[in-house]
Amino acid sequence: MQPTQTKNDLKFDFHHIRTSYKKGATIFHEEDERDNAYIIETGAVEISTTRHGKKVPLVHLGQGEVFGETALLGAGKRTATAVALEDTEVFTISPGLLHDRIMHLDPLVGLLLSLLVNRYRQWRFRSPEEAEKEANADLPHEEAKMDHVNKADVFMRDLQVQRAAALDELRMAQEITRAIDLNQFGPWLQPIVSLPEKKIVGFEALVRWDHPSRGRVSPAEFIPVAERTHVVWDIDMTMLKAACQIVPELQKAAGGVDRKLYISVNLSGVHFENEGIVDEVSAIVKSSGIDPQHLVFEITESALVGDPAVAEKILHKLRKIGGRIALDDFGTGYSSLSYLHRFNFDLLKIDRAFVHDIATNRKSLEIVRAIVMLAKNFHLQITGEGIESDHEADLLSGIGCDYGQGYCFAKPMPLNDAVKFVKDSVEKNG
Ligand code: C2E
Ligand code: CA
Ligand code: CA
Repeated sequence: MQPTQTKNDLKFDFHHIRTSYKKGATIFHEEDERDNAYIIETGAVEISTTRHGKKVPLVHLGQGEVFGETALLGAGKRTATAVALEDTEVFTISPGLLHDRIMHLDPLVGLLLSLLVNRYRQWRFRSPEEAEKEANADLPHEEAKMDHVNKADVFMRDLQVQRAAALDELRMAQEITRAIDLNQFGPWLQPIVSLPEKKIVGFEALVRWDHPSRGRVSPAEFIPVAERTHVVWDIDMTMLKAACQIVPELQKAAGGVDRKLYISVNLSGVHFENEGIVDEVSAIVKSSGIDPQHLVFEITESALVGDPAVAEKILHKLRKIGGRIALDDFGTGYSSLSYLHRFNFDLLKIDRAFVHDIATNRKSLEIVRAIVMLAKNFHLQITGEGIESDHEADLLSGIGCDYGQGYCFAKPMPLNDAVKFVKDSVEKNG
């Protein structure tokens, strides 16, 4: 049973994870090699041991209880026997499954959990004689002994990896907090154009970190950490303030064109747990004095899954501020069509994962066509993301996609370049 890992996800072959035992069957026997731990799904299990040739029952376990867990801590022999007291079904948890789960936890949780497991293991497998020797041991001897114990210990290896990851994350979170105070975060702007005319309709504000020693750091590197540590709130509000300041500059650059250029800002899903977000967003927009029609709030489906009822309230209030709401990265996460129905979006952004192969993969094109048709039924306007060629732009336009964004039109750029881009674009395309 080998787990297969994908980029963001951990998939496991669950075919053989559930096993049935008839009443009286032995699940494992004292002196067996340890292999798995078990969770009882239905039924009951007796754990017993042998003392002086006699069976000594230790405990009776029922649904949801775990037994054989020492197998997760390392190799060795069973010290007890597990027998089904009635027809019983168990889930089998292999050390590999646990190991992969721990490695995919938040690094800090992973570090602490592997540390606890390791401590428990060292304590659990120490004989009284060893414990006594240890108590009298000097440090080098102790370390040598631990080294021996740790060699076979998969958790010790995890511990090292998790330790490095946890430290990196804590350092990064602290650096982000400092960088916010030092104003090192600011927006770069990527144009969004109408299809097929290619007239500019707005920009997406994408955060950039001007790091004093590392140069410009990509959001892909720090946003996930900022989200886990909740400092992303300050980043997003900084970006919103900047976006509000930029709107008049872009509008001015567009000159006499009677078109409301908008700025799209990303709001992380982690804000959608409490309604307080709306007051702050509202205060920022009001104090800037801009017409909120120039704003689009981009959110991903992840914002909606935690507590959909709270998310619905927040979206409703955000809309009342006057900006529009875009569902970002559609096609990657849950892509639940029910969200389109339940939540009131104005725009749908189709993720570049779909867009990038529409020119070469007929199925992708058909999927995007279906998404566009469906979105039209919900009166949503659609933006294709990550358009890298004219051909892709033409295909999207041909199936009714309203807007496009991608390197084909322009990469994200600093404000000065964006102002120039607007002027040039208006001169050329109106
Ligand atoms: P996103 O919201 O999907 O933003 C689009 C990303 O695709 C941007 O990457 C953009 O530079 C990139 N992109 C645009 N056109 C193309 C193209 O034609 N080809 C390719 N290969 N890529 C293209 P970026 O700026 O690195 O941002 C990455 C992600 O970081 C964003 O994905 C968004 O999820 C997050 N992010 C960026 N800024 C913010 C922010 O202010 N707040 C929050 N919460 N998240 C942000
Ligand atoms: Ca976005
Ligand atoms: Ca996106």
